Amino acid sequence: MTAALWSQWKSDRAAATEHAAHEARILASEVDDHISALQNLLSVLVQAVSYDPADRSANDALLRKVKRELSGFDSHIFLLDTDGNNIGTSASSDNRPPNARDRTYFREAMADHLPAVGDPILVRSGRWVVNVARPVKDETGKIRAVLTVGPVLDHFQDTLRLHGLPANTAISIINTRGYVIAANGGDWIGRRRADWGQLPGRIAAKEGSDTSRWSHRDNLERVNGFALARRVPWMVTVGVPTDIAYGALANRLKWGALMCGGTLAIAFAIAWLLSGRIVRPLRRLGMDAAVLAGGDFSHRTTVRTRDEVGTLASNFNQMAAALERRRQKVRTARGEMRQAKDTLATVIDTSHVAIVCCEPDQSIVLWSRGAERMFGYGGGEALGRQRMLVPPEGMAEAQALFQRAYGGETIRDLHVKRRRKDGALLDVRLAAAPMHNPDGTVRSVAFAYEDITDRKAAEEQLRRLAHYDQLTGLPNRALLQHELGRLLAKDGGKTPTSVVLFDLDEFKDVNDTLGHSTGDQLLIEVGRRLMGVAEERSLVGLASRLGGDEFVVILPNCGDPRCIREIVDLMLKRLNEPFVINDQVVHLGASAGIAIAPQDGADVEELIANADLALYQAKSAGGRNLRFFMPVLRAQAQARRSLGLELRRAFTNNEFEIHFQPQIRLSDNAVVGAEALLRWRHPQRGVLGPGAFIDTLAESAIASGVGRWIIRTACEQSAAWRGMGLPLARMGVNLFPSQAYNEALYQDVMEALRDFALPADALELEITENIALNPEDSAVLQRLHDKGVKLAFDDFGTGYASLSHLTRLPLSRIKIDRSFVGKITHDAHDAAIVRSLIAMAHNLDIGVIAEGVETRQQADFLLNENCEEAQGFLYAKPLPAAKFETYLRTQRLALQFADGLEPSGDDPVPFERRGTKSPGRRRARRA
Ligand code: C2E
Ligand code: CA
Ligand code: CA
Repeated sequence: MTAALWSQWKSDRAAATEHAAHEARILASEVDDHISALQNLLSVLVQAVSYDPADRSANDALLRKVKRELSGFDSHIFLLDTDGNNIGTSASSDNRPPNARDRTYFREAMADHLPAVGDPILVRSGRWVVNVARPVKDETGKIRAVLTVGPVLDHFQDTLRLHGLPANTAISIINTRGYVIAANGGDWIGRRRADWGQLPGRIAAKEGSDTSRWSHRDNLERVNGFALARRVPWMVTVGVPTDIAYGALANRLKWGALMCGGTLAIAFAIAWLLSGRIVRPLRRLGMDAAVLAGGDFSHRTTVRTRDEVGTLASNFNQMAAALERRRQKVRTARGEMRQAKDTLATVIDTSHVAIVCCEPDQSIVLWSRGAERMFGYGGGEALGRQRMLVPPEGMAEAQALFQRAYGGETIRDLHVKRRRKDGALLDVRLAAAPMHNPDGTVRSVAFAYEDITDRKAAEEQLRRLAHYDQLTGLPNRALLQHELGRLLAKDGGKTPTSVVLFDLDEFKDVNDTLGHSTGDQLLIEVGRRLMGVAEERSLVGLASRLGGDEFVVILPNCGDPRCIREIVDLMLKRLNEPFVINDQVVHLGASAGIAIAPQDGADVEELIANADLALYQAKSAGGRNLRFFMPVLRAQAQARRSLGLELRRAFTNNEFEIHFQPQIRLSDNAVVGAEALLRWRHPQRGVLGPGAFIDTLAESAIASGVGRWIIRTACEQSAAWRGMGLPLARMGVNLFPSQAYNEALYQDVMEALRDFALPADALELEITENIALNPEDSAVLQRLHDKGVKLAFDDFGTGYASLSHLTRLPLSRIKIDRSFVGKITHDAHDAAIVRSLIAMAHNLDIGVIAEGVETRQQADFLLNENCEEAQGFLYAKPLPAAKFETYLRTQRLALQFADGLEPSGDDPVPFERRGTKSPGRRRARRA
């Protein structure tokens, strides 16, 4: 047990209160015992006195004799006639007391009230007495006189003071009219304390406890126990100063027993004096009372007679039993209280939780061992101090917390900072609860502290892991969502907040070509550049990385599109500037999608989703730019989604078909191949070209399945025509990007070739730039090429592919995009580009086919520039298989029967024999 705890015990008002109440109850019982002893005395005496006024001197003699016997019991005894005149006194007969008609005890005795007890009276000797009276009746029961015994209260008072009570314990006995019967420590007897506001309440409650400041006394605060005696209307109050220890309170039970035993012994002695016939039992009872008064509470009298003495004997035994029970109760209560306190103290001291109790003025009155360990102050240092744990910045909060708890509230699980003796700040979890007096008022506040500094640190670590992107150190998606949610909730969501979603345009290429470590460096640098702008503009809030190459910047309090555009433009510009990483210069671009709360979305999910739609729009417009969200984008996205579902249905319903467009050799107009082109025979909208759906299809989950089906259908058709004697040197098939990166393509192609017995070089896979840029990832193309399958580079010239890309894949052909071809005859610049493309391809030993040839002039130009092949509406539109078959037959017939004829107008060019000069070439020569 720590000294600190003992100190707490000393000031444990709860215990003191309980004890004061207990003492008051005991004292009240003692008062009852005392009154009862006096009543016993009177009941014996009424039989001995005479109510005949003529017997006054006989009465005087008797009462004086009794009074002598009561030497240790400084009292007077009077006999009054029914008018209140004295007809017998234990005092000297020439000093007869005045008429008592108006005295309370007299009136009560005359009214046959029991008990008839008076207010304190100052008698001639200058001492205070209180009279206990009893009527003297004749044989008929008529009241003929009043006998009264008046114990001197000084004596009673001295007895209260007799036993060493703890300092400043205030004991008082007052009657219900407010007169002080006895009170320790002062000259109080006989005073009327009508001003004690608490008296009526206490009388009504009969017993209990409260607190008060005895202002008329010493203005000390006390906890009071009070109890009303039962035999007399006297209120006993024991007031213990709030800082008095339980253990210091004296046990005055023995005093009570002495008093009662003494009175009883005298009563029996008097009775013995008065009556000869009951000598023996009375003497016996007198001895029994002495034993009891000696402290042996288990003692009982053995007197058993059927007369008044027998009644007295049984009263005696009852009282002795009551005394014994009370003593037992005191012992048990004391033991239980001690035990409870021991247990509590052990629990408090072994707990790692710091327990601290504070007075209303916040000074510390309990300081557990846990608190010593946690905060570094010993008990001696801590007790009596105020607010020493609270860091300056937490004062106001701590004050409010204390007030709440003091106001009766229990507070749990509060996380705050507290200071150790060495100045270190601790994270603590705190609970605070009021501690009550028995009357329900709050007496102090208990605090329990749990040191969670380590846990907080671990949590902080976890929080960083959970909320920050490990690569860039920027907040991650989770934190972004949290912060954005917080911003959106502010002001009922009225303040505008903008969300900008960034996506790097060619990041995947960089990652693939330059390696992941460069890619990582690049992402870190991108984060830095975004933060750089954020720091330049105090407007800008949080930049975070969503994952991959997606970044988000939140612009709080910002809803003005011009202002947003300016900031985002600046960011895009910064991202467009070359990055130097590991001595390599990397060019990158980014696109941005912007959504503004509240109009573009009220919650985090919606806002980010809408910014994403705007980003999608920016990217599909070619990238390196920004777009604001517009509601129509949502409709488009919805349409894309439903299109995806429809395509799935279309595929299972066999609504897809392949059309074929011939590829013509410019030198002789011979059909040397065909390109398979996808069509969708839509049940309501008719035949749809790929422009309406191909992007969605390419990104959908069925892309590989549809791609496989296209390869097989094209091969099957090619084989069928071969079987009909209409051989095509090659069949061009377009690939979805996802196919080109998937090993399954190898199997799909090889199976198709085998199943339809086609040579590998009868198939030409057309790949677009985004595939050709990442040849490492499309090893499958290399493998197919090794098997003899041809590869063509589609839409050449539209993207960023440079010459070096052409050498990375084993290409058979480039297909010059129709956007150039369409202008070659009237745009010198495009003509120059096409010319150099052809030259470049030939230099690399790669064949060239021009797409979108619509006029003979274009065909002539191309032939003149040594372009070998052409494809376009000039020859034929993409045709359904049956029509293409007819076309092939027509070409062959034309070759057989119309050799040398000039084709006219827009009619398809006839199927020409090899080596025959094409009209285009001839015309080109002529030109
Ligand atoms: P592409 O591979 O460049 O296909 C050539 C496109 O040019 C075809 O459009 C064709 O109809 C069109 N065309 C041919 N000659 C002329 C002409 O003289 N003038 C004009 N203005 N256009 C001409 P189509 O069939 O609408 O296909 C569009 C794109 O859809 C294709 O461009 C290709 O990228 C994709 N695509 C078509 N079919 C398939 C397929 O089966 N698989 C894959 N992966 N993509 C396909
Ligand atoms: Ca193509
Ligand atoms: Ca093309």
